[in-house]
Amino acid sequence: MPLTYDLKKIKFATDEATYQRAVDLYESGKVTEVKEAFGDFTAVVLGTQSYRVSVSGRNYKLGHCTCYLGEKGTLCKHMVAMALYAVLNGKPLTAEDKQQRNEVKRSDRREALNNDELAEVKKSITESMKYIKPYRGPSRTWFANQDSLREGCARLSAIVSDLPANRQTADILVKLLLRLDRKLQVGGVDDSNGIVGGFMNEVVEMLKDFAQTDPACIDAFEPLCGKQTCFGWEEPLVRIFDERLNVQL
Ligand SMILES: [Zn+2]
Repeated sequence: MPLTYDLKKIKFATDEATYQRAVDLYESGKVTEVKEAFGDFTAVVLGTQSYRVSVSGRNYKLGHCTCYLGEKGTLCKHMVAMALYAVLNGKPLTAEDKQQRNEVKRSDRREALNNDELAEVKKSITESMKYIKPYRGPSRTWFANQDSLREGCARLSAIVSDLPANRQTADILVKLLLRLDRKLQVGGVDDSNGIVGGFMNEVVEMLKDFAQTDPACIDAFEPLCGKQTCFGWEEPLVRIFDERLNVQL
């Protein structure tokens, strides 16, 4: 039975500390005696002691481990290391694979994206947007829903942190913000934890930085003028747009 998750899923759906520790375990060969049966995996993962770990091939968060956290039903580094083995089969991780990049950080690139790159960025944004899902209840699904928001924002963070700073990508980011805003306002997304809002604020900060680096980016803020957004995130960008207009007048 094929696995229904891949490395990207594990990378973006696991909290950073657990992911990093799992990568260390995997890379230092601590996942041993791996067996597959009926699509599920078992292994002995070596740590302070050796732990017996099992992970489902459908959902890597469904599994069991004999460590303290695993016994309590919490996703532990041993289960994540086991899942890494299930998708990588012992192959090494690239530097990119190891980095989660949960924070939005502007890249140093400035060049324009070509048509293929642009299409790829748009496609990966659309794919990540699927994780920003509405919450429809029942309440026992609320935590899973919030995890999905977190995963979506982690995926988006990695994408936007890769973008060069220029007018073209400023447009992409403004459109992304407006799409997220719609999800929050009318899309039924419950962002009471501020996961999506926090990400949006980081993107706004990055756009402010874009505007400083390349004033042509400021034109991209025009669609935000006069918009009623969910929490006023657009205000700093509209201010930059207005101020430049005043200078020109
Ligand atoms: Zn464990």
